[in-house]
Amino acid sequence: MTMDKTPALDPKAPLVADTRTLPRSPGSSKDLSIDTSFPEKLGLDMIAVGAGENIQLRITLTSVSEGILVTGTVSAPITGECARCLTEIDDTLDASVSELYAFEDSTTAETTDEDEIMRLQGDLLDLEPLVRDALVFAMPNAPLCRPDCEGLCPECGQPRDTLPDDHSHEVVDPRWADLKKLL
Ligand SMILES: [Zn+2]
Ligand SMILES: [Zn+2]
Repeated sequence: MTMDKTPALDPKAPLVADTRTLPRSPGSSKDLSIDTSFPEKLGLDMIAVGAGENIQLRITLTSVSEGILVTGTVSAPITGECARCLTEIDDTLDASVSELYAFEDSTTAETTDEDEIMRLQGDLLDLEPLVRDALVFAMPNAPLCRPDCEGLCPECGQPRDTLPDDHSHEVVDPRWADLKKLL
């Protein structure tokens, strides 16, 4: 019994592109715009693209001698929390994509592994792994609400952003405290 390594693609799936209308002469190109979403969250606890969030793929397919080059951007809303101050992050993640899909009978396909270089399946391109990888790769390991977030006050645990500039926890001399009460 022989088994296909990869399951057949569903040409109707939102992230499967049919390239039949793209001329195979090198340099020919076609723009493609796909809006989609994933049924499950993509990412980690700290930062993720939420389930069902709108993911926008804006790409150009270009014929090259060995296959089809996919370049462009993928963007999606991300939510999570700042690694320093735990403030909620509500942002947009923009990732660029650049990937060669090799023709199944090309030299590239014959001399590389399927994990290294993607393959066309007939005229179909499976864009889903590309979108997932690009988004996950672009996600910050330690997301910040802003690049210079000052984090939390180590004494009271409040975000420094919400505290006045002169915020401090100097231990007040009890004698001075008494004097203050008098004033
Ligand atoms: Zn922060
Ligand atoms: Zn404090």
